[in-house]
Amino acid sequence: MSDIDILISEVGPRDGLQSVKAIMPTEAKKAWINAEAAAGVREIEVASFVPPKLLPQMADAAEIVAHAKTIPGLDVVALVPNFKGAENAIRAGADKIGLPLSCSETHSQANLKKTHDQVIEDVRKISELLATLPADQRPGFEGSLSTAFGCTLEGEVPESQVIDLAVRLVEAGVDELSLSDTTGYANPTQLRHLIRLLRAEVGADKLDGVHLHNTRGLGLANVVAALEEGITTVDSSLGGLGGCPFAPGASGNIVTEDLVFMLDAMGLRTGIDLDKLLKVREIVIAALPDEDMYGFTPDAGLPKGYTAGGWGIG
Ligand code: ZN
Repeated sequence: MSDIDILISEVGPRDGLQSVKAIMPTEAKKAWINAEAAAGVREIEVASFVPPKLLPQMADAAEIVAHAKTIPGLDVVALVPNFKGAENAIRAGADKIGLPLSCSETHSQANLKKTHDQVIEDVRKISELLATLPADQRPGFEGSLSTAFGCTLEGEVPESQVIDLAVRLVEAGVDELSLSDTTGYANPTQLRHLIRLLRAEVGADKLDGVHLHNTRGLGLANVVAALEEGITTVDSSLGGLGGCPFAPGASGNIVTEDLVFMLDAMGLRTGIDLDKLLKVREIVIAALPDEDMYGFTPDAGLPKGYTAGGWGIG
């Protein structure tokens, strides 16, 4: 990652598409992934290995992973809800698998139909499976601490609970952790505090990614807070696609286009060509004409005379 400062992990094809009603055709998904990779995006979460009857939007997960794997230099991430999903994602050839653990146990029961103990047991079994693979065929394994900043069912989630679960995930064998504001409850002060506590507990090298939502408009403010704590991987979704399942009409993931504009203007290298990225929206809009696409930069355009790589600095 030496030629970039911040890794942007595009999650639209998974997080975005799994929360929209329409099913994006497989060919449109491939075109979207191709175009983002061509714009310089280096990591894309392309699919979720859930049973198609639960999430028909992800029925083509194996085909999408196989396609994305043909793109040189792209890290292909897949979400797995359980052991079976992990087996399928590994078979499909994902470079990294991510398993979400809901810090709110009520949310975990509602979402994955599992208690914390059951999820941790799955993580342990997946780690054992990964250990049997040759090193060059073994995907990375990330545990995502979702609803870490609050839950629509339980409300506040105690920091001590998040830290306890983070420790258990690491003990059960994940390579790294990601902090996830699934509900868009986080604020910058809370985020900084939790990052510090977590890193002190599990080691700074175990936590370098955040997954933030813009449900209440604090997405980019939270990104800056995370960067100031040394976070180097940020998830986002093209057009903020996906909304928030708990707040109809509210925007969802932070918008990749706005995130890239901000980082680029701040002089932080992402490796992404903003002009090319802005054009990728057309593919998604054509395939999902009824979905809301968010983002300020795509509407406003770039500032007059904009040059990438630190705007108005020095
Ligand atoms: Zn999300």
